[in-house]
Amino acid sequence: MDRIYNFSAGPAILPIPVLEEASHSILEINHSGMSILEVSHRGKDYEAIHHDTEDRILRTLGLSADTYQVLFLSGGASMQFAMVPMNFLGKGRTADYVHTGEWSAKAIAEAKRIGEVHIAASSEADRFSCIPESRTSTPGASYLHITTNNTIEGTEWPDLPVTNDVPLIADMSSDIFARELDCSRCHLIYAGAQKNAGPAGVTLVIARKDYIQQANEGLPVILSYKTHSKSDSLYNTPPVYAIYVVGLVLKWIEVEGGLKAIEERNRKKAAIVYDALDAHPEMYESAVTKKSDRSLMNITFRLRDAKLEGVFLEGARNKRMDGLKGHRSVGGFRASIYNAFPVKGCQELADYLHSFTKQHNS
Ligand code: PMP
Repeated sequence: MDRIYNFSAGPAILPIPVLEEASHSILEINHSGMSILEVSHRGKDYEAIHHDTEDRILRTLGLSADTYQVLFLSGGASMQFAMVPMNFLGKGRTADYVHTGEWSAKAIAEAKRIGEVHIAASSEADRFSCIPESRTSTPGASYLHITTNNTIEGTEWPDLPVTNDVPLIADMSSDIFARELDCSRCHLIYAGAQKNAGPAGVTLVIARKDYIQQANEGLPVILSYKTHSKSDSLYNTPPVYAIYVVGLVLKWIEVEGGLKAIEERNRKKAAIVYDALDAHPEMYESAVTKKSDRSLMNITFRLRDAKLEGVFLEGARNKRMDGLKGHRSVGGFRASIYNAFPVKGCQELADYLHSFTKQHNS
């Protein structure tokens, strides 16, 4: 197959060895005489996949299985916007949220339906072009919620904050497994898989076991983290195939040299594209003003001359580059270059950014 350069923000590009192995398993898994799509979620073939994927997630994030538990849930990261406050926003207490874009806005809106919310910091006045530097914390806050990578706006927290006594909850949907972070700063991490971790259909939740035990009582059973913790994510039928592919992605990360090597490559890839944009300030405007807050995963930019947008996209498509249109709410362009996106594709985009400038800068 002649692969295009898929710059889509998610569902997004997956590594070719993962696609190959996944396609074989569609026909048969482990000489079982069955497809991965046909095996029981309580059978031994799937059981091994389930536990191996849990172990790999913790290992990759550098978290101990004594302290943390992985849950495989459905409903996307959007479901977590609701489950987090339902489970952890205490009665008469306040949850602190950092507002950095459209996804944090949705998380905040859900939390407000459940209880008191304090906006600890916001970059809204700067059109979400940076990550706020300081926060105002509520004493005794139930938790602090952040969005580590703002998929639409193209900003990313340079590091996880230290919150001392306040549990940190992180939506890592678009940068989980992209770089080395001290994830032990978080009480709970969640991520829809369909960007850097696998296909759509499974949401990863990684939480401290002792924190899960502190969750609110009296919730609908399916919406309680305790339910899924107790049943090892088998309370209802989990999305078997999606979990299986997440496991393959994690094997691929290990073969590539782990998060250290992945991060190095991601930094190199992002620099290739950002350098090309920065070389032509008369043509391109980066949406993120503060360089240290620029996302390694989603590079957002505009053309100074909006009339050229259609021509730019068409030229890119002719070079087999797809998915560069910015999110419908912000316009402009977005190049999503998740872990599986090749260095060569970033180089080709950079070459195109240069040649487009030469051609249209009269
Ligand atoms: N948070 C972030 C940072 C996202 O990028 C997305 C999806 N693009 C979501 C939450 C929502 O995820 P889902 O579609 O899995 O509900």
